[in-house]
Amino acid sequence: MISYPDYLRLLPKTELHCHFVSTMQPARLLELADKNNVALASRDIDTLLDSDNLLDFLALFNAAHDVLVTGDDLAQLAYDGVRDAVAEGNLRYRETFINPQNFPGRSYADVVDPILDGLRAAEVDLGVGFGLVVAINRNLGASSATELVQTVIDNPRDGVFGIGQDDLSPDGTESPGAWVDAYALAGRHGLQRTAHVGETLAADPRGILVALDDLGCERIDHGYRSVDDPEVFARLLDSQVPITCTPHSTRVLSGWQFGPEHRIARMIAGGLNVTLSTDDAVFFRTDIGREYTDVLPAMGFGPDAAKQISLAGASAAWCEPGQRSRLEAAFRAEHLALDALLAGEPVEASPPG
Ligand SMILES: [Zn+2]
Repeated sequence: MISYPDYLRLLPKTELHCHFVSTMQPARLLELADKNNVALASRDIDTLLDSDNLLDFLALFNAAHDVLVTGDDLAQLAYDGVRDAVAEGNLRYRETFINPQNFPGRSYADVVDPILDGLRAAEVDLGVGFGLVVAINRNLGASSATELVQTVIDNPRDGVFGIGQDDLSPDGTESPGAWVDAYALAGRHGLQRTAHVGETLAADPRGILVALDDLGCERIDHGYRSVDDPEVFARLLDSQVPITCTPHSTRVLSGWQFGPEHRIARMIAGGLNVTLSTDDAVFFRTDIGREYTDVLPAMGFGPDAAKQISLAGASAAWCEPGQRSRLEAAFRAEHLALDALLAGEPVEASPPG
């Protein structure tokens, strides 16, 4: 018999919204900074991680790239990030955002190939499937984004599935309309597309429609502001486009507490196709297990909703269809086994109004 929190921790999980450097444990960040002579804002981990707004967080996020100097540093982090998430929350598949432009002076191959090596090794040892999503750095502007997409097209790699985003535009906004050319180019060359839209109260809910209609996105990252615009919400409900939600990041960056009125709770209760991820696990002091254990009970969701979210994460994966079907089947089988172990039936809360 197991408790509901253990059940949630043991549920098989995917993660479709995870920025590569944010899987680095703080001790490793300090160790690499020493090895590679990189100055950090602080040597104290608590001070380093003490960001409560997006701009502070992004300063640390960018510094974390600087400590990763050699190919071995990249491959080791790729491997360790998977191993940690298996232990923390039964991770079975992950798509990781990586932005080669955040590693100045190094080629696309210099960055992507060692990471793919590390992920392949983790797949062999731990059975965790993987893909990379190349992230446009919104701070670098539209022509840089198009250049990056062209680089992805010119350097095809097994395991690189599509494009997404990180950072913010120089004016601190999401500016989804700025990336139309880059996304059109990606679409013409068969790359999958996702975008960070509707994340904070500063974002326009209609950016979600821009991502769907003008950028051609097959997935949406964040999307919380959909709750504030009935037309946007209805569109996500009708289309069932997968949405990668990252609960702990909303608590750190927006101060939204986990309860039935949280926007993610309202998205789940309202029938949107929600998946859960960490976004920037270490910097938001979370892990893929805690995105379920800390969040779903507090929002009032029981095992049925949890299984649905777990399976939605498998169904929204961008790997080839055969691999995706195997993942879904494995998840269903594990759900049955976990249901049998669950002690008593937790009460499924009535859907939040
Ligand atoms: Zn993100």
